Amino acid sequence: MTQRKPLVAANWKMNGSKALVDDMTHSLAVVDFTAVDVMICPPATLLPLFPQGTAIALGGQNLSQYDAGAYTGELSASLLLQAGARYVLVGHSERRSLFSEDDDILLAKVQQAVATGLIPVFCVGENLQQRQQEKTTEVLAKQLAAVYASHPELLAKSVIAYEPVWAIGTGEAATPEQAQQAHAAIRQLLARYDTVAASKVRILYGGSVNASNAAALFNEADIDGGLVGGASLKPAEFLEICRSAK
Ligand code: PGA
Repeated sequence: MTQRKPLVAANWKMNGSKALVDDMTHSLAVVDFTAVDVMICPPATLLPLFPQGTAIALGGQNLSQYDAGAYTGELSASLLLQAGARYVLVGHSERRSLFSEDDDILLAKVQQAVATGLIPVFCVGENLQQRQQEKTTEVLAKQLAAVYASHPELLAKSVIAYEPVWAIGTGEAATPEQAQQAHAAIRQLLARYDTVAASKVRILYGGSVNASNAAALFNEADIDGGLVGGASLKPAEFLEICRSAK
């Protein structure tokens, strides 16, 4: 079986402060970073406030599909990189639904990230209606194909996050069995594009991960860590979640 080092990522969304940067850095100092990679996506303005030289990796929550120019308010991959980011979320469901990011834009963003040396964390997931209509695999297939069908070479440079929309911020996480089933389907779908990369790619689960459910989720064969929203704003709880990943 392919060994994949778990990755636990924090998505602070539009929350946080300089004080939280300090508290979180302090709290995570005791993590065994040989066992787990830890990454935090704070609002971009907080990126340079993290101390350098720790094992905590940083990420952006979004990036522009353009590399530079007259795009007021946007941030390019290279600006994020210079601010300290190594990763960037692409296609979070809030970006897809609230900011109308479609498949073409998301492909361009993944390309920008990889071309600039950032690791894209490409987010996919079905909504409640799609799950109830048993369309989960179909939805995942379409979202993944939008990037990796035409550009299979991007897969080896990516992390995937499975985030069922109905589980985000609701307190109702997928069960380990539901999540494992979706993760296995994702890995199988990706194998169409690059078998080796599909076996190596880290697939994170996101959606109401907390200190009580993380260990059982991370224990599943195809779940390689998590993307944590609400619980990642609480230093003690986020530390516990990081420690659940082995
Ligand atoms: P949540 O958010 O953990 O608060 O459900 C996860 C996410 O949106 O990435």
